[in-house]
Amino acid sequence: MAEKVIIIGSGPAGLTAGIYTARANLSHILFEGFQFGGIPGGQLMTTGIIENFPGFKEGVPGQQLMAEMREQAQRVGTKLIMDDIDEVMLNQHPFKVITSNGETYEAECLIIATGAVARRLPLESEKKYWGRGISACAVCDGALPIFRNKPLAVIGGGDSAVEEATHLTHFGSKVYLIHRRNELRASNIMRKRAQTHPKIEILWNKTVEAFLGNEMLTGIRLQDTVSGEILTIDVAGAFEAIGHQPNTAFLRGQLSTDENGYIITKAGTTETSVECVFAAGDVQDSRFRQAVTAAGSGCMAALQAEWRLQRKCG
Ligand code: NAP
Repeated sequence: MAEKVIIIGSGPAGLTAGIYTARANLSHILFEGFQFGGIPGGQLMTTGIIENFPGFKEGVPGQQLMAEMREQAQRVGTKLIMDDIDEVMLNQHPFKVITSNGETYEAECLIIATGAVARRLPLESEKKYWGRGISACAVCDGALPIFRNKPLAVIGGGDSAVEEATHLTHFGSKVYLIHRRNELRASNIMRKRAQTHPKIEILWNKTVEAFLGNEMLTGIRLQDTVSGEILTIDVAGAFEAIGHQPNTAFLRGQLSTDENGYIITKAGTTETSVECVFAAGDVQDSRFRQAVTAAGSGCMAALQAEWRLQRKCG
């Protein structure tokens, strides 16, 4: 029998949607994901202390916040399944959802909350040194012994890049912030933090030509985008912070997305281009991408699903 609601994704958006759907007493399942599109719990699982989630005056570790949200969802009655969704069929009703194990589930409403994953530089040498000095998460990997008291680099110029660089100053001897332009995209407070930190050196107008090393990463070859000059820096670690890619591939074009793949929702709602399919969290938000906005939109999606189900879907 079809569920009233299937929620795909287990970050703050998905779990909040689960909590609200459970409390609305609607039959539902939440697919937590397994290996596609990042780990269950979403990006906060690889974030350190979150200082801007209301209600935690001392801040809260990302993993703890997600563990508590998950337990809360289970306590109010959300059924969690740890599996990836391979395919959805939105051209029939009830909608069909097929897991990577080949199991099919049906639902009258869907809430897509699959988040986004970190982008990576498309270089052969990046693949070679991935996990051998290159990472996309300073908070997860920065404290490893191989990075201690060594020069490190962060690539990117946004808030994440500055955050990663600042975090790495606790471990590395110095941190290069490599940015392809001459102005950081990061917010004013973060820019100032990067520009005044004694251990951070910003390398302006530089792109990565290649990652260098033997078994492990030992350096980066850079090109100056203005002069064309090539230079090499010695680093033991390189952390990519060049933005994110929404996890929408499994939708196979069945929902309208923008040019970067983010699901388009009707302004002020979580409604997508298909009736009774709602989207919440980073998968539909390339702008705010905050835990609290993701949770808020998960709440909206669940309430909209509840209201929509009062009329027949499909
Ligand atoms: P972002 O703002 O999209 O910044 C990505 C950065 O990577 C940009 O500086 C971009 O350069 C650079 N970049 C992109 N592709 C590149 C490539 N192929 N090679 C080299 N550089 C490349 O992403 P983000 O920093 O992850 O932030 C995402 C959102 O989360 C933002 O809204 C941000 O404010 C928010 N955030 C907030 C906090 C906080 O408040 N504490 C922390 C982290 C993130 P260009 O500038 O030249 O485009």
